[in-house]
Amino acid sequence: MARPLTAYIDLAALRHNYQLACACAPESQTLAVMKADAYGHGALECARALSDLAPAFAVASIEEADRLRNGGITQPIALLEGFFNASELPRIAERNYWCVVHSQWQIEALANASLVRPITVWVKLDSGMHRLGFSLDEVEPTWHALGVMENVHQRHLMTHFASADLERSPQFVEQLEKARTVARRLDAPVSFANSPATLVHSEAHGAWNRPGIMLYGADPLERATKLSQQLKPVMTLETEVIALRTLGPGEPVGYGGRFKTARPSRIAVIACGYGDGYDRHAPDGTPVLVDGQRAPLAGRVSMDMMTVDVTDLPEVSVGARVTLWGNAATGEALHVDDVARHCETISYTLLTGVLPRVPRRYLTT
Ligand SMILES: *Cc1c(COP(=O)(O)O)cnc(C)c1O
Repeated sequence: MARPLTAYIDLAALRHNYQLACACAPESQTLAVMKADAYGHGALECARALSDLAPAFAVASIEEADRLRNGGITQPIALLEGFFNASELPRIAERNYWCVVHSQWQIEALANASLVRPITVWVKLDSGMHRLGFSLDEVEPTWHALGVMENVHQRHLMTHFASADLERSPQFVEQLEKARTVARRLDAPVSFANSPATLVHSEAHGAWNRPGIMLYGADPLERATKLSQQLKPVMTLETEVIALRTLGPGEPVGYGGRFKTARPSRIAVIACGYGDGYDRHAPDGTPVLVDGQRAPLAGRVSMDMMTVDVTDLPEVSVGARVTLWGNAATGEALHVDDVARHCETISYTLLTGVLPRVPRRYLTT
């Protein structure tokens, strides 16, 4: 085989996680969020693997939706930021995309469009995140205006939480209270819940929930629960040791000599770097699995390689299997959340960051 770096995508784990999201919210329907190429996992392959389970999908743009539709996905596909330009509207109607509306200019564009059939809109309420959505004052007149519009089929009310992942967040409680008040007043079917709310806030479940990251097996919660611990990692990023060297104490390793050996050391060079999407900010000590056992990153991540201290793993040889995150063939798993914590980032950036040059291999069992 050529360069050994591969992202294995376990589609059975994806199905398991989707079914777990459904089991968390038996009264809701569960839309599978596939934006950013299914968080780096391959949107079309993932959507196909869920297509007998999921009644609808969600993406961030019409380009992402088209890729699924052209690949044979027949379910409704929600555009989470709606349209960026009014010229998208005819295709949204033709291809049965659901459309978030968050701004007055979109309402005007919708009123003026000439469409083959009316479209389903999700009216976005800004309940306190202050990113997208209509304010509490605007949302009610907007809702009613859409109700009498020829181009509008069904209406849903949606909002997005800024802090659903935190254990006791006053902001979450406040946002939920506002959103529920509006929903009651409008008697609207709602969609409020992202992954953390799907997992632990049943009071935020609605007609539709919108889990993303949990489908890929990363834990979105500040503190894991029994349920979130049942999530299975979908991506296993795997490579091999391509060289080994023995160094005396006090020797620098890698760019800038950030790491210095404190003792006689064995350093393994592995084929993965920031040019593959691995985080260049990973500090010394970030764990990787070598032959299924934890070993610390030693030295700065290079573009195509990184260096790992395997002094305590004397049986490691060139060709040894290395897991950057996910399931090792033998031994423990290394959770992407664990790597993210070391890098002071989140699983979302690590997973969406895996670059196209890393081949994806899909596993179905
Ligand atoms: C990305 C996104 C989600 C999914 O969020 P996760 O935290 O990945 O579950 C849900 N709703 C909207 C509007 C989003 O943009």
